[in-house]
Formats: sequence, C-alpha cells, structure tokens
Amino acid sequence: MKYEPVIGLEIHAELLTNSKMFCSCSADYASAPEPNVNICPTCTGLPGAMPVANKKALELSALVGLALNCSINKHNTFARKNYYYPDLPKGYQISQYELPIAEKGWLQATSPLAPLLKGERDSNSLLPTGEGLGMGVVRVRRVHIEEDTAKLNHEKNYALVDFNRAGVPLLEIVSEPDMRTVEAALDYATKIRAILRYLGVNSGDMEKGVLRFEANISVRPVGSNELRKRTEIKNLNSFRALTRASQYEIERQIKIYESGGEVIQETLGWDDARGVTISQRSKEDAQDYRYFPEPDLPPLKLDDAWIDAIKIRLPELPEAKTARFITDFELTPSEARLLTSELSLANYFEEVIRHAKSSPKSVSAWIAGEFMRNLNELKVEADSISAKSLAQLIDMVTDKTISGSSGKVVLAEMFKSGGEPAQIVKDKNLLQLTDADAIQAVVTKILDEHPKEVGEYLAGKETLFQWFMGQAARATKGKADPVMTKELMLKGLEERRK
Ligand code: ADP
Ligand code: MG
Ligand code: ZN
Repeated sequence: MKYEPVIGLEIHAELLTNSKMFCSCSADYASAPEPNVNICPTCTGLPGAMPVANKKALELSALVGLALNCSINKHNTFARKNYYYPDLPKGYQISQYELPIAEKGWLQATSPLAPLLKGERDSNSLLPTGEGLGMGVVRVRRVHIEEDTAKLNHEKNYALVDFNRAGVPLLEIVSEPDMRTVEAALDYATKIRAILRYLGVNSGDMEKGVLRFEANISVRPVGSNELRKRTEIKNLNSFRALTRASQYEIERQIKIYESGGEVIQETLGWDDARGVTISQRSKEDAQDYRYFPEPDLPPLKLDDAWIDAIKIRLPELPEAKTARFITDFELTPSEARLLTSELSLANYFEEVIRHAKSSPKSVSAWIAGEFMRNLNELKVEADSISAKSLAQLIDMVTDKTISGSSGKVVLAEMFKSGGEPAQIVKDKNLLQLTDADAIQAVVTKILDEHPKEVGEYLAGKETLFQWFMGQAARATKGKADPVMTKELMLKGLEERRK
C-alpha cells in the first residue's frame, strides 16, 4: 500500500515589542546583562500581581492575522492554560483558547498540494475562489496570543532558571492539516517566516529561538480522506530540523502501519545528533489543561476603526510582490521569488532598476547570479554596494564598455575595496575591445600560429572551436567582445578552407 503524509504546523513567533506581554519589563532578553534582571512581580507570578495586555503586541498580532487573510475577532478573550513546569512561574500560561484574536485565514502555497476536500473548502468562506487556487492553499486555523516561558539552563546535575524571557509576547500560528509533502510544509514555514520579517514583527532568527516550529504528522493510505492518529514533534529550531524530523517521522509511522501496528498519539522530541524522534509524553488533550477564561484580564473589544487602522499598515507582501515582479519586470517565477525572499533584497533590486538603463531582466540576472554569490561568500548585506554603483556596472556590461567576464572582476573588486566601477575599469584596464580591426588582428595571429589545430578543425573536429575562443580570451585578457570574436573566428577558419 502507498501512504501519504498529512502535516499541520504550529509556529511560535516572539513579537518584537519593547515590553513584555502583560507587564512593562523589557522584552529584549537577548541583550540583558545577566539572568533575572528584566523581571517584576507579574512576570515572575507573585501572588496578587495583575497583568495588563500590551497594546503594541495586540496591534502586531492583528497585523499578522490580516497578512494571513484571517478574520479578526472583534471580541476575543484570554484564557489560562494550566500546567506545571519550572519555566512557568505562575503554574499556568496566559493564552487564548476559545476566541483567538484571528482565525480562518489562508496562505497561498507555491508547490501544488493535494486539493483540499470539497467540504473543507466550503467550510471556510474566506478562501480565495480563483480557478486552481484550491490546489495551492494552506488554511490557517488560528493566530493567537500567548506569553513565552522562562529559560532553563541545564547544568550537570541541576538547572538554573532565567525569567528574563518569561512573559515575552508570543504568537502561535496554527495551520490546518493541509500539507501533503515535507516540501509543502517547508514552503509554508518559509513563507510564514518571510511574512513575519516583512511585517517587522519577528527577526526570523531561528538560532536565537525567536521562531520555533512544531510539526503534527500522520500518514494514511493514498486516496483516503481520513485523518489518522498524529504525533506532534516539539521545538524544531531550524528548517533543517523541520525537514529531517518530518521525514523521519513519516517513515516511522509508515513502518508501523506496514507491520500491522497502530500509531499512538504522543508528543515527540527531535534528537538532532542521532536523527531520531523520541517519545516525551503521551499527548495531552485540551481538557488536561483545564482551560478557563483569564479572570484578571477583560475581554478584548476591538472595533472596525482600530482594525482598519492596522489594515492600512499592511505592506506589499512577498506573494504580491512576486506577482508584480513577474508582470512588471518580466521575471520568471523563480527569479521573482528569489528577489522577494527578503524585503531588503527586493527593495535593493528595485532601487538598482531605478538607476540603471539596462533592462530589469539583466539587473535581475546580475543580482540573482554574481551579486548573490558574492553576498553569500562574503556574508555581507546587499547594501554594502550602493544601488547606483551596481547599476553603473551593469550598464557598462550592457553597453559593451566592458565584457561580462570583466564585469565579474569589477564586481568582486567593488565588494573588496568599495570602489566605483568606472574607476576600477580604468585602473585594471578592462575596457572591452569592440574595435573590429583589433579583434581581427588577434584572430588572424592565433590562426596563423596554430596551423595544426586549424587543420584538425577543418577536418571535422569542431569541438576545437571553443579552444580557439579560449586562445582569443587569453590573448585579450577576456576583454574582446565575445560575439564579434566568434564571428571573426568562424570567418577566419572558413577562409582557410580554400
Ligand atoms: P492541539 O491544539 O491539541 O495541539 P489541534 O487539533 O488543535 O491540537 O491541532 C494542532 C495541529 O495539529 C494543527 O496544526 C492541526 O493542523 C494538526 N493536526 C490535527 N490533526 C492532524 C492529523 N490527523 N494529522 C496531522 N496533523 C494534524
Ligand atoms: Mg500543539
Ligand atoms: Zn515583568
């Protein structure tokens, strides 16, 4: 029997606010000078301390909800999620349960997924209706506000607790189980991260733990619509961990069914070093948490004016930008997706286009190719070269002032020394040879000096042509116009046939 995975993701994202979710302590635990300095009676759970909701965090949460096409609940409430753990000083986490701030949204997916079931589509009136869109939509079940826990620092025989992180605003974004491949889950997670970064609500810095994934996974026979027992893999702190853990878990469950067993619903951890999922506890159900409305916080009453004011703060999001780049600049979808993956890169690209006389297509080719290669290699930001300078360089290649290969040399030098392209071209003497007579002289010399190769070429060994071109490139230090050189070289060879 063939099995297919069913994947739903829960994504936890800390919000970039100055203060914590329910008190005025600094939320910037990363730059705290030492443990337990950004704390107060509220975030350490002292009796009698009263929480007050952070206005900025509510705005950012709604912003995320709107970006994910959710409807905002004008009336939403906080709830207590009761459980004990040393990193949870109150013995409960303030979260949202019955009425989250946002729900019933969707995110357009790049890779085609299994089509949603008809019933599923109908149950969500907010889904886009365009032809074919149902193929590429992951539904967002809910976006709710909660608070982060403290940090446990595990020593050899004991652990130390640092409350600087306790109470930092945390958003949980829960998808429906709409993903049918690991790639689709990865695509969804990547898009959520990009959107959070575009909105400026989260840095996406996974090594710092500000964004964490949980994968819910089940498998079922292909063709079946049932939702089987799932496992939940906690605290996946990188895209690599998400990928490997999901792949491992899918295989594990298939093996269980194939040997006639049953998957049990449980919470798993991911052991990155060994590459296996490990059972942590049998999965608790909602009733185990004894959720009840938070008595210390009033329900949130949001009105249309407040929501509208947030709506106008929505920037152009990656998906829309990608579509615009494809139509306005005639880019391929993959070029457009690459250039919109980071807002700073997309803005830089558009700035270069504004300065350049070259076509957006050639600007895109330079940025997606040689420019990104340098960025990754040198680990620097796009704006380490001014958009104007890069535009000048690209224009010099376009108008044949320099050759494409010289362009690469100049770009590397710009990254190295920060110089201006025109000056570098001068210093390195890279002006392209476009003078037909000069190129003809080079070609004639090469052909005269290599009668043996000329003979072999004319006898049918056509692969030698690249060798002749290589000789020309060497003789001119890559500065000869390649189109012209090719033409003259072919002509020269043919003339020697007689
Ligand atoms: P809980 O809140 O207890 O973690 P939920 O039922 O709300 O559980 O679902 C949590 C996540 O699990 C959601 O992302 C959902 O899409 C996913 N999920 C639910 N059922 C399945 C299933 N059978 N297979 C895979 N994922 C599932
Ligand atoms: Mg969960
Ligand atoms: Zn506090």
